[in-house]
Amino acid sequence: MDIKLVLRKSNENTINDNTIINLDTTKIGYGYFTIIAGPCSVEDKNIIEETAHLLNELNINIMRGGVFKPRTSPYSFQGLGKKGLEYLKLAANKYNLKIITEALDEDSLNIVNECADIIQIGSRNAQNFGLLKKVGKLNKPVLLKRGFMMTIEEFLYSAEYIAYEGNNNIILCERGIRTFETKTRNTLDISAIPVLKKETHLPIIVDPSHAAGRSDIIPDLIKASLAVGSHGIMVEIHPHPEKALSDGKQSLNFKEFEKIIKEVKGLAKYFGVDIK
Ligand code: PEP
Ligand code: MN
Repeated sequence: MDIKLVLRKSNENTINDNTIINLDTTKIGYGYFTIIAGPCSVEDKNIIEETAHLLNELNINIMRGGVFKPRTSPYSFQGLGKKGLEYLKLAANKYNLKIITEALDEDSLNIVNECADIIQIGSRNAQNFGLLKKVGKLNKPVLLKRGFMMTIEEFLYSAEYIAYEGNNNIILCERGIRTFETKTRNTLDISAIPVLKKETHLPIIVDPSHAAGRSDIIPDLIKASLAVGSHGIMVEIHPHPEKALSDGKQSLNFKEFEKIIKEVKGLAKYFGVDIK
């Protein structure tokens, strides 16, 4: 395996320190369990502002929201693009939140780079090596999702592409892989977390929403993510999941979200991590 930069042990002599992503108001990495939440897509000004308000009340510092959406069907809602980014930024600024949003291609990367605090590279782009090289040249944290057909080794190679270009601010995200199971959208590969922690110094978070594809089991998957040692979660929430323009079935409503966050805060002490 000729992966060097993202491995814990680059060679016999070099042991790399754990990477902590510093976002001035918050951190992601060893010692922390960072919560990122927000709607699948930014849909309008009010919904994203309501979300930002809730996150602020719960002391959560990072909001997600897609504006360039990778949809299986070209007929599905494709995201609000630049307008959505404006809404996302307005809401985040009002409550002093950091934002993460996805870059779908090189054009959207340039747009997203202007205002996102973390750039998300989605599962479908996890082996888009041209795009990985481009984010590798930026000086901004990147959240790299695992491709749903990727082995852990291939996942590390993709992270290596980013690091190779000079950007070491990489967060890995396990979001479920495709298996024969049909009760869930994907299968959350929970064992990938401890395996990755042995192999790489990069932080690793879990996206239980795209793994499950159904909201009812997400609180359990969040607790499992904490127990297995991940450095955080990114979860989809929506004030009215039944009306969401994308991924409503897997979105927690605000009440469900508040409940699980309370539980996680209680459990964090037991697992010796600071909630961020
Ligand atoms: C998302 O988080 O908005 C998303 C599209 O997820 P994934 O790339 O994991 O499917
Ligand atoms: Mn989604």
